[in-house]
Amino acid sequence: MNQSDVIVVGGGIMGCSAAFFLRRRGLSVTLLERGLTGQQASGTNFGNVRRQGRYLHQLPLANRARDIWGRLPELIGEDCEFVASGHLRICYTPEQAAKLEAYANDARPYGLALEMISSNALRARFPYLGRDAIAGCFAPIDGHANPRLTAPAFGRAAARAGARVEEGTEVLSIGKTGADFTVETWEKGTFRAPIVLVTAGAWGNKLSSQFGESVPLAVHGPQMAVTEPLPYRLGPTFGVSTPHVKETVYFRQVKRGNVVYGGSTRGPASNETNRASVLPENILGQFEQMRRVIPGLARVNIIRTWSGVESYLPDDVPIMGPSATTPGLFYAFGFCGAGFQIGPGVGDVMAELIATGATTTPIEPYSIARFSGAAA
Ligand SMILES: Cc1cc2nc3c(=O)[nH]c(=O)nc-3n(C[C@H](O)[C@H](O)[C@H](O)COP(=O)(O)OP(=O)(O)OC[C@H]3O[C@@H](n4cnc5c(N)ncnc54)[C@H](O)[C@@H]3O)c2cc1C
Repeated sequence: MNQSDVIVVGGGIMGCSAAFFLRRRGLSVTLLERGLTGQQASGTNFGNVRRQGRYLHQLPLANRARDIWGRLPELIGEDCEFVASGHLRICYTPEQAAKLEAYANDARPYGLALEMISSNALRARFPYLGRDAIAGCFAPIDGHANPRLTAPAFGRAAARAGARVEEGTEVLSIGKTGADFTVETWEKGTFRAPIVLVTAGAWGNKLSSQFGESVPLAVHGPQMAVTEPLPYRLGPTFGVSTPHVKETVYFRQVKRGNVVYGGSTRGPASNETNRASVLPENILGQFEQMRRVIPGLARVNIIRTWSGVESYLPDDVPIMGPSATTPGLFYAFGFCGAGFQIGPGVGDVMAELIATGATTTPIEPYSIARFSGAAA
């Protein structure tokens, strides 16, 4: 029977974790994923489990997610290679150091304990840093995880908890007749439920538009690369705080030795072809910036590059919450390049909202209603 309490459309980290937490709240769930769980942004991202630097209004959600990251083995039976390695954000100018310090002060009431480290202490603690780094801000329990593992692990845990997880099932349209939504799929016919949660990532707007809620979603491909393995020496995840896009780089070393890196120079992506491309100049520019942070990485070989399809909104804030036009319809999409860390928190919050009608974590800034009247 194709009837359940909730249909979740899209099996990225948002949809898979929502399905898992909905089952824990006792609701019957069908998750429909066009391809494979975690195939798109959730499986291609950098893997930063970073709270430092997030908008202050997002910190309660990021904290809720961080708590779940720390409990993955107990919750879903796998750690997804989550390591609380710490996150060090360095800067090159006194003005930027002042901004890091101001953020650290502002974030403290939200429970984010950040430590400013000045020049000499910075070099004593991280002796491999280049001379350009004049200060850093350290988040001791931020870290990183393996994006290839995470969404599928949540999907499997949801299925073990009783969710029906249908991969290879593309939703063509969603309609509402009476109390139920009818969700038409290409491969497996019609599914019905009184509640639908759209977690379709960069494709979310195609479904929200069917309910008169077009949003100005842009699609880009952040640029990623990984080096050959080196002796395991770098502890934290690194990032550069700078107003200049070209100076932005972030990187992390995995236990087997490879250094994964990315930056804010983006490449083309399409939610028509479902593809994102790498521009070599971006990869090499990011590499040059990584070398500036740690000169010792100058001669390492890059062994692979990739990108992923991610969606962005003009205010850089995702959409989460109920539809503004249609009772029973909920959205969580458009995560603007920063959805991986908050992903498990988003699933938990959406499950709470759907099951109880409210959530203890504030999500008002994320309402789709802010785009009422906006053309896609
Ligand atoms: C290269 C890259 C690096 C990033 N780095 C980081 C990082 O380090 N830290 C961080 O916090 N965030 C990062 N992000 C952002 C993060 O990966 C995303 O915000 C997050 O994964 C979005 O998850 P999602 O579930 O909303 O979307 P997705 O993972 O894209 O999942 C949406 C799913 O919906 C499915 N779908 C779409 N339409 C339909 C349909 N009609 N029927 C059925 N299924 C459908 C798709 O196939 C897809 O699997 C990065 C993103 C990219 C691309």
